[in-house]
Amino acid sequence: MQDCRGREKMKKNIRDLDQADLGELVSSLGEPTYRAIQIFNWLYARGIEEFSKMSDVPEKLREILASEYTAEFPEVFDVKISRDGTKKYVFRLFDNNFIETVVIPENKRTTICISTQVGCKFGCLFCASGKMGFIRNLNVSEILGQVLYIMFRKQIKITNIVFMGMGEPFDNYDAVIKAIKIINDKNGIAIGSRKIIVSTSGVVPRIIDFAKIGWQVRLSISLHSAINETRSMLMPINKIFPLPRLFDACRFYRNETKRRITFEYILIDGINDDEKHALSLAKVANSLSADVNIIPLSIIKQSPLKPAPQEKMIWFANRLKRKNVRVTVRKSRGADIKAACGQLAGLVR
Ligand code: SF4
Repeated sequence: MQDCRGREKMKKNIRDLDQADLGELVSSLGEPTYRAIQIFNWLYARGIEEFSKMSDVPEKLREILASEYTAEFPEVFDVKISRDGTKKYVFRLFDNNFIETVVIPENKRTTICISTQVGCKFGCLFCASGKMGFIRNLNVSEILGQVLYIMFRKQIKITNIVFMGMGEPFDNYDAVIKAIKIINDKNGIAIGSRKIIVSTSGVVPRIIDFAKIGWQVRLSISLHSAINETRSMLMPINKIFPLPRLFDACRFYRNETKRRITFEYILIDGINDDEKHALSLAKVANSLSADVNIIPLSIIKQSPLKPAPQEKMIWFANRLKRKNVRVTVRKSRGADIKAACGQLAGLVR
């Protein structure tokens, strides 16, 4: 389709519409609403990128949709494969921005770590996305396109989805919620809510909104310190939503959903790895019945922070265990291809 100057008009991506929007669209075209369910099924359960393949949809409707919309996934620009089997996909978006998506195989499980923004405005000291600054939010189709590309173009069975890639998911809240609904829908991508984790740096009002939905989707908090002063130094968002407010929101989430929260804790040499930090973390984890993941710091060239040594990680984890905290020490995956936690920056390096 061309605009009045004869230029090719940019088509909208049909995956930016949810099932209700699709229903309205087909009704406005004089079609029964069950057509929306058929189209939805082609888009998500079968991962179709061409309207012409939707064989149970009338040809006329397919032609109208194809003239207005595209159903294509974002284009992969580069793939890197780690020694540990982790793969990092760099997607080029329609406006020449880049995002990164990581696929992590582990025994019978394959987890995909997806991005929700190009860059990020929150500027955490240990994070390459934060160093980029904020460029823009991803559309629903760009969030889902990362998952669908891996499932249908690469034929990889995804079992778990984590919203821990580039960007703060709760800073792109509406698109993330729409995407989760489609991921979780039994006629859509059909991944169970307990297999989905959303990770936030602590956008308090959105934690409250998320709790009110009452989903079984898991919430994890990038905590990294249970001491206000240290956390404000590592994560500027803590100056807007300091720890007491964050913990109140966590308590609200826990009471509303009855789900356990996980605190993500990157262990940084000389910053948050001493007795004082361990005890304050244990105290809050116990009071909120939260689990703790200890994560090694990934080195990014823009940051002076150093990872805590392995023996310190073990000591810190044991200190928490002795206080009856459920703690897991995570291995860093994909660090050799800059795919580990905090290393994603949407650039081809
Ligand atoms: S850790 Fe998350 S919130 Fe912080 S800068 Fe990185 S992407 Fe943004």
